Amino acid sequence: MIVIDEKTIFDEIQRRKPVSVALNGPDGILPKIQETASKIMERFGIPAYVLADSCFGTCDMNTNGAKVLGAEILFHIGHTINSTSFGDNIVLVDAFDNISFDTIAEKCAEEFRGKTVSLVTDSQHLHEVDKVRTILEHGGVQVLVGKGKGQLNDGQVFGCEFYPVMETRDSVDANIFLGQSNFHAAGIALSTNRPTYVLDPYFNEIREVTGFAQTLQKKSILAVYKAAEAESFGIIVGLKEGQFSKTTALKFKKELETLGRKVQLFALTEITDDKLRNLKGIDAFIQVACPRISTDNQFHKPVLSTPQANALVKLLKKENVDSIFQIPHWL
Ligand code: SF4
Repeated sequence: MIVIDEKTIFDEIQRRKPVSVALNGPDGILPKIQETASKIMERFGIPAYVLADSCFGTCDMNTNGAKVLGAEILFHIGHTINSTSFGDNIVLVDAFDNISFDTIAEKCAEEFRGKTVSLVTDSQHLHEVDKVRTILEHGGVQVLVGKGKGQLNDGQVFGCEFYPVMETRDSVDANIFLGQSNFHAAGIALSTNRPTYVLDPYFNEIREVTGFAQTLQKKSILAVYKAAEAESFGIIVGLKEGQFSKTTALKFKKELETLGRKVQLFALTEITDDKLRNLKGIDAFIQVACPRISTDNQFHKPVLSTPQANALVKLLKKENVDSIFQIPHWL
């Protein structure tokens, strides 16, 4: 069950006495955020708006929504990073899953006895890393936990940022991801090129995602080769504040024009196939927002992420294209 650190929220409201507040977080914990919002309204008698648009990370906090509503504080819940606020008006609040990994960790220790693994997780299960480490080590598994960097804590990854596992990848037999997210685990497998397993305490199972990651990789490489045949490109700047990268978009524009391709520039908040079907005269797209939009979704034309577009430019220049995703940060 997800437990939101409501004390931080209540203390902050008590201290700053805002006229209204807003709250948001990942879709999966919205029901819990609704409960917290109701408690705020009852306890403090102020409006507490739940910003219910999808929110995939600290790159996607919808601060504009809070501003338009006139909310003085935005509580962004469930994307734990290594700081507690962004400026004065955004407070980052932890939300931990209190499920125990004890049983599945014992099973994992049996399966990986004698091996070396990198232990890694997402925001919701960070507090379990030390405990699982102890269980695995008692069971004869050698455990490494890579160092965090940027916004990441030690042993933490985002869907596009993999510093801890990149640090350990040459020393381990496998990566072990704590949680249920095949999305994060597939990213880990792609960036490290190491066998990667999900330790899922809900289904009490150890799930290998290496094959799934290879499928994503094949699809992504195919899109790059298809895009290499395109004459006209649409380059899309994402309008979500933490994914905004106009400079990268203009860099690709210049490179493709130098290589004789036509380029149009677009800007979108949500990049979906339906939106792209409205745009005419484009053979292939490059989107410089969230890289997982390209790797994890189906589009009717090639839609390349930044690392794929870097590979495309190399391909068009007849340079060597090495591994596309074996880098610590995909933006
Ligand atoms: S994978 Fe996408 S949504 Fe997740 S942190 Fe990276 S840019 Fe943001």
